[in-house]
Amino acid sequence: MSAALSTLQNVFGYASFRGPQAAIVDQVVAGGDALVLMPTGGGKSLCYQVPAIVRQQAGQGVAIVVSPLIALMHDQVGALHEAGVSAAFLNSSLSYDEAQQVEWQLQSGQLTLLYAAPERLVTPRFLGLLDDLHAQGQLSLFAIDEAHCVSQWGHDFRPEYRALSVLHERYAGVPRIALTATADALTRADIVERLHLEQAQQFVSSFDRPNIRYTIVEKKDVTQQLLRFIQNEHADEAGVVYCQSRRRVEEIAQTLQQAGINALPYHAGFPSEVRQQHQDRFLREEGIVMVATIAFGMGIDKPDVRFVAHVDMPKNIEGYYQETGRAGRDGLPAHAWMAYGLSDVVNQRRMIDEGGAEEEFKAVLRSKLDALLSLAEATDCRRVRLLQYFGETSSPCGNCDNCLHPPTVWDGTDAARKLLSTIYRVHEMSALTFGAGHIMDVLRGKDTDKVRQFLHDKVSTFGIGKGYSETQLRGVMRQLLATGALGLHKVTSENSGHVFDTLCLTSGSRDVLRGEVQVQLRETVAAARSRSTKRGV
Ligand code: ADP
Ligand code: ZN
Repeated sequence: MSAALSTLQNVFGYASFRGPQAAIVDQVVAGGDALVLMPTGGGKSLCYQVPAIVRQQAGQGVAIVVSPLIALMHDQVGALHEAGVSAAFLNSSLSYDEAQQVEWQLQSGQLTLLYAAPERLVTPRFLGLLDDLHAQGQLSLFAIDEAHCVSQWGHDFRPEYRALSVLHERYAGVPRIALTATADALTRADIVERLHLEQAQQFVSSFDRPNIRYTIVEKKDVTQQLLRFIQNEHADEAGVVYCQSRRRVEEIAQTLQQAGINALPYHAGFPSEVRQQHQDRFLREEGIVMVATIAFGMGIDKPDVRFVAHVDMPKNIEGYYQETGRAGRDGLPAHAWMAYGLSDVVNQRRMIDEGGAEEEFKAVLRSKLDALLSLAEATDCRRVRLLQYFGETSSPCGNCDNCLHPPTVWDGTDAARKLLSTIYRVHEMSALTFGAGHIMDVLRGKDTDKVRQFLHDKVSTFGIGKGYSETQLRGVMRQLLATGALGLHKVTSENSGHVFDTLCLTSGSRDVLRGEVQVQLRETVAAARSRSTKRGV
């Protein structure tokens, strides 16, 4: 039996390696580099823990594990101790004396694994310790967990990860294994470049999480929609509700509490004791719903999270995938639910536009947002789309909203053309710019003060969209924004000085106006819901 397999069995008590674990372990034990992409719950930890033990037994010293999360280090070291493995961590939670103690253990060769925060690792003092170990051939490997943090294209960029490029130069010959549960092609390439993993063998697992059902609904009254979702489908079950802002976290937590749901708020604005307490309760007690910003979740290993709900749309698919991936780690059926609306598109676009980034960078952020928008607007299998984004081809899953209740699709091409020409006409006539509501009024031929004030009832397209409901037109607008056939344009009001977003035509608008692209839209959610109720769903 190989040393790796006997370690797996004797130390961890597992019968066999899972999926690509064996190949990864072999690669690292043999001294090669590896880049591991494996979904949450796939078993990344063993990929470096087993090699660490095997190499240590072969007299090759200690493994250094870089991890951004104190809670995670704590849990892992605890679990290793239980398994009889000598491990420790170094991070800001230790007192000076405790840290000294760990350093001493490290120097005297007593450790098999040492977990360290990236900012700690690259201090001159710590690098000095590593230099000594390296000189004695006592550095067995580096494991870089949550490796996507090194990339600004990832969804959780941490500048301190950048300094890890030093490992390659300074400790040549020491194998490095980088691991992440989420990275699209761009992020992957960036990880390779930043960490100098050109020679690394890449192990890319399927990103599919078959037990997670994906549902994306159109936002109406999102708090009530969420409430119904929880009460009807996940009463008394543990879940996480993600919100964009701290204020929203508190509002939603309160509404859920008032409805008798065991909800707790969590965001970075709470004192750390409160956060810790809420997190502990979430982990220990049954059926707690954590209402949180994305500050919550990374490294939280709770197997029986039955649902993850997004009441606001995340920034990109990687974020969405990572957050929804916290559901159903035990492999039992779980649900990823998201409500999405025009306001999400506008808000996310605004955040990108107003961010301090360079134009080139903003363009990448926008294209990532667009990919998520088109997932939200999709009328075909969500999982196929999601996996496609990570470079995988698959067939319709039968376990997402679109597969289970295929949405009725209507051809929105005519409505889209009417909408675009109205925007064009209105802006042609008035030098001012107008928001979505007004455009819709003109299109639907409504008699409002504003319409009269600007003589927009004289526009040739006035009322040509009468046949469409406002919901339908909003759908058209969202879809056009999602596909870039409609743009948002920032305008400062001369009167109030307020900055607001208005609609503008883009180069993509022309193709729609010419009738060269079809606009397929899902039937409104309200209609779809009444259908599924009839079916008794
Ligand atoms: P990840 O870090 O990829 O999210 P973990 O390393 O935390 O995943 O592993 C997820 C779970 O799967 C853990 O409970 C772990 O003990 C278990 N596991 C991993 N590999 C195996 C294996 N080969 N056999 C049985 N259980 C495993
Ligand atoms: Zn599907």
